[in-house]
Amino acid sequence: MIIGVPKEIKNHEYRVGLVTSSVRELTSLGHQVLVETQASVGIGLSDSDYENAGATIISNAKEVFTRSEMIVKVKEPQAVERAMLSEGQILFTYLHLAPDFPQTKDLIDSKAVCIAYETVTDSSGKLPLLAPMSEVAGRMSIQAGAQTLENSNGGRGLLLSGVPGVEPANVLILGGGVVGSNAARMAVGMRANVTLLDRNVDTLRALDCEFKGAVNLVYSTSEIIDQLVPEADIIIGAVLIPGAAAPKLITAEHVKKMKPGSALVDVAIDQGGCFETSRPTTHTEPTYIIDNVVHYCVANMPGAVARTSAFALNNATLPYVIKLANLGYKKALLDDPGFLAGMNVIYGKVTCKEVADSFDLHY
Ligand code: NAD
Repeated sequence: MIIGVPKEIKNHEYRVGLVTSSVRELTSLGHQVLVETQASVGIGLSDSDYENAGATIISNAKEVFTRSEMIVKVKEPQAVERAMLSEGQILFTYLHLAPDFPQTKDLIDSKAVCIAYETVTDSSGKLPLLAPMSEVAGRMSIQAGAQTLENSNGGRGLLLSGVPGVEPANVLILGGGVVGSNAARMAVGMRANVTLLDRNVDTLRALDCEFKGAVNLVYSTSEIIDQLVPEADIIIGAVLIPGAAAPKLITAEHVKKMKPGSALVDVAIDQGGCFETSRPTTHTEPTYIIDNVVHYCVANMPGAVARTSAFALNNATLPYVIKLANLGYKKALLDDPGFLAGMNVIYGKVTCKEVADSFDLHY
């Protein structure tokens, strides 16, 4: 199969659909990979690195789109990219169509075969192509929170670990899924006092086996949140109710009761945020202050560590890319119901119920 990798054109997006190691795997299986020139300079991979992996470098996106049977990307195609898709061409990338009618309409009109990373499921119903970004964001949340606690950022002037004779900071993590458990690993590694709340007792049991007492694991209720918020130096928002807006576990009243200079890191901001006072921020201006509490609510945290994120994403997507390339989309998807769940739009028809429901489209 001929596989195309255009350079990402969304603002401040440095990740790439296929890193060089993925290209080598595909070319060694006999596939041809066309990569737009300078596609990965932002993460330190040059055109000659791609050529060494067996790719052909193409000077412009138009030619990549025109010549490829499958396009592999990271972000949803922008309008100019959507105009270059063709009937029957496979598009494999994050799409997030439900809130985006213009994109949905263009993908319907393109008659391309559009498979979204974020709706692919595994045998246990989890989302294997979202998990790597949650791992990155969870780990980064502690780094972000630690910086936010520095005086120069409006924080309390605390070192997360403390030092011998001076106590460490209190980190409260709401949610113990992929983001929350990764945040806990980093916070424990940095020797903070860590408390994690979740509503799923099996999740708490699994974390108990892992942490062996190094994290206080507590069932999440509003009563316990009322008790813990005033003591916290950093609160990480990492809850998810699939398909729904994040519950507002921390209210504006809670924020008023926090210590001045403490930090809120709302990783769940992409689902509306789990703090009442959250609003999305960017890497250029990641924080703002309300009631003396510093809020960090960056909606695309993995974008700040694009190299790590691109490799982590490729580790998860490569087996699926290989299946599509080896088998063609029909056999690859029909062999695997979880992969089939990734199909959002095909030959002008919406095949993802949530997307169809969002826009009252025929499903
Ligand atoms: P997940 O499903 O693995 O974990 C969510 C956890 O929240 C579950 O364990 C669930 O039991 C728990 N939960 C639900 N309601 C709760 C409550 N009331 N109290 C305590 N726990 C509760 O999800 P995840 O992959 O960890 O993702 C968490 C959030 O982070 C999602 O909104 C995701 O989209 C977001 N995210 C954001 C970024 C970013 O850049 N900002 C990056 C990746 C993921």
